[in-house]
Amino acid sequence: MSLKALIPADEALEIVLKDVDPIGSQMLPLKQAANKTLSHDLISLRTQPPFDASAMDGYAVLQSDVTSLPATLNVIGESKAGTPFNQTVNQGEAVRIFTGAVVPEGADTIIIQENTNAGDGTVEVLTGTPQGKFIRKAGLDFNIGETLLNAGDTLTPYRLALAASMNHAQVPIFKQAKVAMISTGDELVMPGEATQPGQIIASNTFGIAASIENCGAQVLDLGIAGDTRDALRAKIFEAITSDADIIVTTGGASVGDHDLVLPVAQEIGFEFEIAKIAMRPGKPFLFGRFKHKGRTVYLTGLAGNPVSSLVAFNVFVKPLIQKLSGQDAQALQRVPAILGCDLPENDERAEYMRATLRISKDGKRIATPFDKQDSSMLANLVRADCLVYRAVKAPAAKAGEACEVVLIS
Ligand code: AMP
Ligand code: MG
Repeated sequence: MSLKALIPADEALEIVLKDVDPIGSQMLPLKQAANKTLSHDLISLRTQPPFDASAMDGYAVLQSDVTSLPATLNVIGESKAGTPFNQTVNQGEAVRIFTGAVVPEGADTIIIQENTNAGDGTVEVLTGTPQGKFIRKAGLDFNIGETLLNAGDTLTPYRLALAASMNHAQVPIFKQAKVAMISTGDELVMPGEATQPGQIIASNTFGIAASIENCGAQVLDLGIAGDTRDALRAKIFEAITSDADIIVTTGGASVGDHDLVLPVAQEIGFEFEIAKIAMRPGKPFLFGRFKHKGRTVYLTGLAGNPVSSLVAFNVFVKPLIQKLSGQDAQALQRVPAILGCDLPENDERAEYMRATLRISKDGKRIATPFDKQDSSMLANLVRADCLVYRAVKAPAAKAGEACEVVLIS
């Protein structure tokens, strides 16, 4: 496909995700594995509970001793959690027992203490209990050898607790992608620095870095490269030698004289399949791959305009990070809504329009795009509740018609 072609966004996402495999797996201590993704199925190393356990405080007895009541039994010992009673309970006998303790040999019934009168070395049972009630049988929860968690599962708090109960101190976790970030532009200065006429604060960097971290990936911020081939080449080399899996550049991604990301990365050896997307914001988007020491380094070149770069990140880079990290690659989810104003016919680029959202009396989402949609305008991205999706060549639409939106807040 020619790099001059405007590629539809869904086709571009397929190209980005084609032949992408998870970068690998590592064993991590449970404490470090929260919210990370399992790379292999987990088999239980234990049966839980490992023994028949009492679910209540009371007395372990034989059912045949409590069929006619009241009955007085000799208390021959005690079983508490962690300290079992190691003899057999015979006819006429009872063992004092507490929640979580092993039910002793011979006993088949738990009488809760509320239904007894304790004597001196004896207990009077006033009310019986059906056999087996208040006894948690060994394996009630799960058995040794059972597969309870699967590759691809995110270790949510519940799953993490289950992995611990299965007696795994360490778990196999997909490695996190390392993402190097390079901002390009002679005009850029960092927030707080002294500015000269014509300069712009580098803002993308912060939004993109936080987005990368939200995906569970590791950020390597390589700072700002000025608009020279040497400066950019040096940063890209730094990213490659730092073992970055993905290099995210911002700015310099279109076809102006000072847009150097494509030619410089091509010189290094990156092979590009995408340069322009039929999408607004986010038309300049570069995607290339480079084989280095037997692995693939991906370069995603985002536009400089903050809204373009953040939208393109969510459409393309986030799913790439997810797939490299063993997670399901998630395309932007669109949900139905109703237009709050008229919109003109759309052109050859699909559009994501920043819009407010309100809920109508009958519970429908009403989405109203802002008048101004320039891709440099970050404040109205923050003010927006959703992005109204307009397909390529979507016909003019009236207020009240159905539309689709991506929820963003
Ligand atoms: P470019 O894609 O390099 O032509 O940049 C397009 C616009 O985005 C220009 O107005 C840049 O000044 C601006 N821009 C580029 N990089 C950044 C950045 N990191 N943060 C904020 N604005 C940027
Ligand atoms: Mg630039």
